[in-house]
Amino acid sequence: MAMPVGPRGRKVRILATLGPASDTPEMIGKLMRSGADAFRINMSHGDQQAKARLVEIIRSFEKESKRPTTIVFDLQGPKLRVDSFTGGSATVETGGRFTLDQSTDPGDATRVHLPHPELFQAVSEGDRLLIDDGKIRLRVAAVTAERIETIVEVGGRISNNKGVNVPDVLVPIPALTEKDRSDLQFALEQDADYIALSFVQRPEDVEEARRLIGDKAALMVKIEKPAAIDKLEEILSLADAAMVARGDLGVELPPEGVPPLQKRIVARCRELGKPVVVATQMLESMINSPTPTRAEVNDVANAIYDGADAVMLSAESAAGDYPCEAVLMMDRIGRSVESDPAYQSRVHFTATPAEATTADALAESAGLISNTVEVAATVCYTSTGSTARRIARERPPVPVMAMSASLRMARRMGLVWGVHAVHTRDVSNFEEMVGKAKRMVLRHKIAGAGQRIVIMAGIPFATSGSTNVIHVAKIVGDELDDYGVS
Ligand code: PGA
Ligand code: MN
Repeated sequence: MAMPVGPRGRKVRILATLGPASDTPEMIGKLMRSGADAFRINMSHGDQQAKARLVEIIRSFEKESKRPTTIVFDLQGPKLRVDSFTGGSATVETGGRFTLDQSTDPGDATRVHLPHPELFQAVSEGDRLLIDDGKIRLRVAAVTAERIETIVEVGGRISNNKGVNVPDVLVPIPALTEKDRSDLQFALEQDADYIALSFVQRPEDVEEARRLIGDKAALMVKIEKPAAIDKLEEILSLADAAMVARGDLGVELPPEGVPPLQKRIVARCRELGKPVVVATQMLESMINSPTPTRAEVNDVANAIYDGADAVMLSAESAAGDYPCEAVLMMDRIGRSVESDPAYQSRVHFTATPAEATTADALAESAGLISNTVEVAATVCYTSTGSTARRIARERPPVPVMAMSASLRMARRMGLVWGVHAVHTRDVSNFEEMVGKAKRMVLRHKIAGAGQRIVIMAGIPFATSGSTNVIHVAKIVGDELDDYGVS
């Protein structure tokens, strides 16, 4: 399977988490060829050196394929996790007892290390401890400074570093732990495109991260705490992107509370023109099976009908037996949904009224033009990515090709709905702008001879925030010969 150069043939983006099942050049290359547009590197597992290797592999494929590829570094955040077990896991029996303590010895079926000393003060008898996304439920029977003794209400197998949610406890842990600060520094050194912040609770959490990140990377907030829902508007306004982190959200809240929130967060992010990722358990059964359940296929499809920018794979691609099959499945669902004649009207069920800016006026005009004459693509020149995001916000029926002289900005666009990003040199005059747009759509197989394209740019060229020109061009077909290469 060769590395594809053209657009993906679908608008929704696929974000695949890397892990032990997908940490080799062979697998990462296969995932990209199968349709992964972006990769999530989860700082909750493994060491920094291993992550640097992943970045190196992704960047080398990026260079080979010339397809700007997005890397999301996901910080663990104040997530509580158990430590490790002898042999990697242990099974706790329903009705039995299980202790969480401060000894760093590997755990077994009776106890495990809980490396969060703050918690031993914060929990009390009767509180719930939910392990591995709530699959295992413990209730606190007694607590001392060193040990939390629990009764196992629902037992099962617990493996190394599984998450612990304590919905009944206000955990006194800052938004960025010491580990997060070190991982954040590392991620910035590795040229992360997005930094995902876990367990955001307050707008101040986002502000604090922003002070450390600046504009070196985009900031994605993971919405997974009820407290973040209370402050959703402020939190989204401070972020560049969001993730509907259904795993923890559905443990902290009753699971039936998640679907309305997913719709609300997706709609609000679309209105704001900020990329939104729907995450967790999307094709969960594909961890062990080459085919998903019908319900999972419907879940992915519905997120796409709602107009989410990206759908995410977690353990399916990080630790499952069928990482490529899972990506291919998402790719097929994307194509199927987007070729449904009813898709356009369904995706536009969410209204995204234009803001009173020139960029939005032009983005709307591009839509009007393509409703009047047949247009094969919208092409924009963008230095910050903003123009591309404003066009994508309209969820247009035609592909969007975004050309940027900034590789960093081109990479960030890998999570933006419908955008095919191209890293290229700036143009310096109008004629060059039109010529290059035509040449690039031909080279990237986005449009062909006889077709029209809509071009948006800012004049003077190479200044940000100045999109003010819209131009309709017709492709003749000999543009590739006309203008040499670049
Ligand atoms: P996680 O985040 O996989 O890092 O926990 C996603 C979620 O909670 O859904
Ligand atoms: Mn989570």
